Amino acid sequence: MLSPIVSLRRLAGVRVASLALVATPAIAAQNFDVEPFERLGQRLVELADERAGPSANSADTTSERLRSLHDALPFGAFELWAPLVTLDAKGREAPGARAKDLVDRGRALLALQRYWLDREDPSEPTSAAARAALTRVEGWWSSFQALPHTPPSEDAQSALAALEAHFGLPMRSGRRLTMILAPTRAQYVAVVGARGLLSVRTQRHIWNHVELTAPFTALLDGSSVFAATWALRHEGSAVLEDSGMSRPEREQWFTHAAAHQIIYWLVPMTPPWFVEALAIDATLTLCGADETNCTGCREVESMPTWWIGGLEALALLSREKGPFRGASSNRFAKPLRAAARDGGFTILDLDRERPAEVLRALILGPDAPTPAEAVQGGLGARKGFAEFQRAYSVAFVGFLQAEFPERFRVLLSALRDVPFHSTAERNALHRLVREHFQLTLGESHDPEADLEARFRAWLVR
Ligand SMILES: [Zn+2]
Repeated sequence: MLSPIVSLRRLAGVRVASLALVATPAIAAQNFDVEPFERLGQRLVELADERAGPSANSADTTSERLRSLHDALPFGAFELWAPLVTLDAKGREAPGARAKDLVDRGRALLALQRYWLDREDPSEPTSAAARAALTRVEGWWSSFQALPHTPPSEDAQSALAALEAHFGLPMRSGRRLTMILAPTRAQYVAVVGARGLLSVRTQRHIWNHVELTAPFTALLDGSSVFAATWALRHEGSAVLEDSGMSRPEREQWFTHAAAHQIIYWLVPMTPPWFVEALAIDATLTLCGADETNCTGCREVESMPTWWIGGLEALALLSREKGPFRGASSNRFAKPLRAAARDGGFTILDLDRERPAEVLRALILGPDAPTPAEAVQGGLGARKGFAEFQRAYSVAFVGFLQAEFPERFRVLLSALRDVPFHSTAERNALHRLVREHFQLTLGESHDPEADLEARFRAWLVR
């Protein structure tokens, strides 16, 4: 990745940290060649079918078709696919995953399940059994040394089954939440390419220049493919050349990608900002930081169309210039407090690097639109707002956990019970906040009546 350094500045009392500038592709479509997806995807499918033998089911249009190229390791709610063989940029067979790279990935998948178990209502019928099972599965994984891993003992198998059952998996399609590892960019592009070839309707979502160079892509069937390297450059054949990804980057991106899967699976009827806030909170909890420049989550088999609108802001994240990055252990409460002004918060114009507007509008209400303050300021202010919204919603989740730990658990479990795809429940979060907190959310500036107003009062206290 390119890394010129943004100078340290102070803007309206808000420190803009000096962080490595990461070249992020623009959102608008660019000259984009699908050739790498087509060529490597085709080659990977051929290789998988050769390996699977004559029984390979050509009618299978999911990424299950690639299973024969992977060691599928069970982790309760998740499956981790470790490639036994990969493709290089020319489509030739190359080595698979290295065992030492798998240890941390497996641990993260287990830690994410613990993250949820620590935050659900402990009186859920299978909660205690799931916690005990998780401890046994952790014991099983601690013995991992090399692929192929010893099949789980009977005890570990029953623990894995108990965890799966607790998390309500597998899905109707029989799939689990799957993280597919790709040790190189070529293998990553091959997997995204294969998915697009096997399920043509996914092409317009996953064959684009953003996914071409992204660290992970959700394959819209409950699985995500994760690349352990960066693309060297964003154009030409260099998209298939590997540039080193640091260990913290790998841990944060992988954890964040897997967090999307499990959180969206558990609370799919919550707004995008809430799923994203929990995914970031989980990454902060497990990794101590979340410097990912995530463009929002699109997980599991399908999602309601009303959900998609909320993703736009997430695509504008510009971590290199945002003040809400770096030391995030306080869930951004400190920089948010520093941005508080005149009953609102300073929104920066991240293109011009100066304050744009003071945001007074509440933003967590049902179907809350992008506030006028952010729209009027142009693209730079929209970027500033996206960074602000990210920090603000994570701080809100932190506030709930700190101030209402019991009620937050009950709220999460209640959200999990909301039927998926029920359009009548699109505001389930707001309904359940009213039910469990006797407060509205994002509908009034009165802290006695509204949870967002109370959060703001807490933030600037
Ligand atoms: Zn995300």
